[in-house]
Amino acid sequence: MLKTVAVIPGDDAAPEAMRPVVALLDSLNIGLHWQYPEVGEAAEARTGSPFPAAAKRTIDAADTTLFGSTSGKSGAALHYLRWGKETYANVRPCRYLPGCASPLRDPAGIDFVIVRENLEDLYVGVEGELQELAPLNLAGRTIRKPVHAIGHGRYAVKAITREGSERVVRFAFELAQKRDGRRKLTCATKHNMLRETDGLFLDVARAVAVEYPDVEFESFIVDDFACRMIREPRQFDVVVMPNQYGDILSDAAGGLVGSLGLAASGCFGADYAYFEPAHGTAPDIAGRNIINPTATILSATMMLEHLGFATHARNIEAAVARVYAGGQTLTPDQGGSASTTEFCDAVARAL
Ligand code: ATP
Repeated sequence: MLKTVAVIPGDDAAPEAMRPVVALLDSLNIGLHWQYPEVGEAAEARTGSPFPAAAKRTIDAADTTLFGSTSGKSGAALHYLRWGKETYANVRPCRYLPGCASPLRDPAGIDFVIVRENLEDLYVGVEGELQELAPLNLAGRTIRKPVHAIGHGRYAVKAITREGSERVVRFAFELAQKRDGRRKLTCATKHNMLRETDGLFLDVARAVAVEYPDVEFESFIVDDFACRMIREPRQFDVVVMPNQYGDILSDAAGGLVGSLGLAASGCFGADYAYFEPAHGTAPDIAGRNIINPTATILSATMMLEHLGFATHARNIEAAVARVYAGGQTLTPDQGGSASTTEFCDAVARAL
């Protein structure tokens, strides 16, 4: 079965991880067909748009997209993959592989997944001058005076919908059912301060929980969760959070097991999914062939599973685990001196 993958290699150091990972997947000979939509600065120079219609068509026609991290102008493509394709559930696994440079004394057995709501919350991108709110005369519950009267400054809108919360919570419950884990869903919100918004997210999660009696449900205030995630990470299986907390805490979870360079992610919607490492473009190490490609490899294995190649995905994950366990060919962020391509070659040999 031929599957088409749109590849956007990304910016700065990201393509240095993406290129050998595509080569690794190609070597499987499982009928993956790669398409490279032209986006970002190159597309703008040639067509006048950083995200031309042809790139959108390529993404639409592909079975999925593998996306390197972007900065600047390739962001328009990311915007389309996220809000255009309504990929509402951002799945970010946090699993310790023996040999990774975790800062914890005993990281063995850490294996949980953060499901971050991907479209709403503070990231709806509505910000402005506080004075614009004067006609609304919005009285703050905590400051007890109209919000525009606090001083000169800016506001941001945090939008949480019932529908958006329900679909991501259901997704997280179903993941907890499918996963070979503790069958537990943890919800983390700041509902004590944000009663209307995070309160709604938690209310929805509690209501949906009744429909999944086979999955244990618990909730924590997000700051308490952050502490528990570091003190007792093995307690967690699947964790669902509004967008901003999920964004921040999944990077922290990457640090917990060893590096941002290990943190994979997949973004799922009703009829499209795309896959991207959770880290940024690592501009400080661009051009040196030392970016850790593990996050890109593990995002690619999530993609393989989504495309129906679960066995190949497991085989590659096992090969990555063997390279870490061997400890001979690790990238500098993991305390080694191997290059990105040497790491990928070691994974290919382990396969
Ligand atoms: P963004 O805002 O897009 O998340 P950022 O600039 O905050 O990006 P990153 O680009 O993720 O953050 O980089 C943060 C630090 O982590 C940098 O020092 C970078 O070199 C390092 N880093 C990120 N990803 C990797 C990786 N895959 N391998 C090694 N180091 C990495």
